[in-house]
Amino acid sequence: MDSVYEDVRSILENRRIRSEILQEQRNEQIRQQYPELAKIEKEIEDTTEQLLLNSLDGKSSEDLERELRILNRKKENILASCGISTDEFEAKPYCSKCGDTGYIHETGKDGSEKVILCECIRSLIAPVMLSRSGVEKYPAYSFEKGSDEFFSSDPRMLETYTKLKLLTEKERIPNAVFYGRSGKGKTFTAVAIARKYAQKGRSSFVIRMAEAQELMMEHRKMIQAFYTPVDKERAVEQKVDYLTEADLLVLDDLGVEPRTANTEADLLNLLDKRSLAGKTTIITTNFDMESLKERYGGRFFDRIDRNFARFHFSMEGSRT
Ligand SMILES: [Zn+2]
Repeated sequence: MDSVYEDVRSILENRRIRSEILQEQRNEQIRQQYPELAKIEKEIEDTTEQLLLNSLDGKSSEDLERELRILNRKKENILASCGISTDEFEAKPYCSKCGDTGYIHETGKDGSEKVILCECIRSLIAPVMLSRSGVEKYPAYSFEKGSDEFFSSDPRMLETYTKLKLLTEKERIPNAVFYGRSGKGKTFTAVAIARKYAQKGRSSFVIRMAEAQELMMEHRKMIQAFYTPVDKERAVEQKVDYLTEADLLVLDDLGVEPRTANTEADLLNLLDKRSLAGKTTIITTNFDMESLKERYGGRFFDRIDRNFARFHFSMEGSRT
């Protein structure tokens, strides 16, 4: 997304350097205590250097390689006789899971390898993701503060809520429409999902549909205008980026925004861009499917129909 990743990378880099320096200080003390260790390390260093020179000259170095193996074994033996394990002699990373690289290679069930963000990098990114996500406007809307009791009066609804919670935990929320009359927990659930994503270091963005529409209009005007003040341009661009690039976007309360000539086209454009990039969108609305079709026309409804899972929030109770 942007500079936050660079900042985080430099934090990880500093952690790596710091642990190497600390280890080197420890090793220096050990060497002073055991001079034969320093001697063998020097020999290893010289041999390694000679190996490198040979390989640059294209010379064979089988003898040197054998020698290096013997020297390394000797070093291990010396360490062992001093009661020091080889591990103790190596710099320990701050995060042992990723070795302070920030990434972990994971092999899927089908044998495919994928790279995922380590927990250490996620926890560094999370505060930034939270402040950008817009969920702070809804302090009480989170899975932790819970709503199991709220949904528990309706077993079907409780099942839906529990399922969504589980999918969130696995970061596998599909494109979804939460529909049903107001006060049934749609916004609560959508915000709780966005919050959880941000806490896990994924980008998420919650915006009311009326505000999103205004933003898209402003963006279009800006592109057509000859001049826009830099500050304003930056602010609008940044929000439009969140809208199109957030891993998870919540468009809250579709249907209450004023109607304009461009609403349907803007929405279609946004949804298409997002689904092309593999990003997830959750739409909440008080409308039922028929009314959505009437209001936004066939093409928009078609997208929803084909690409979005529907969740009907219908139980008794009161919450937005
Ligand atoms: Zn890590």
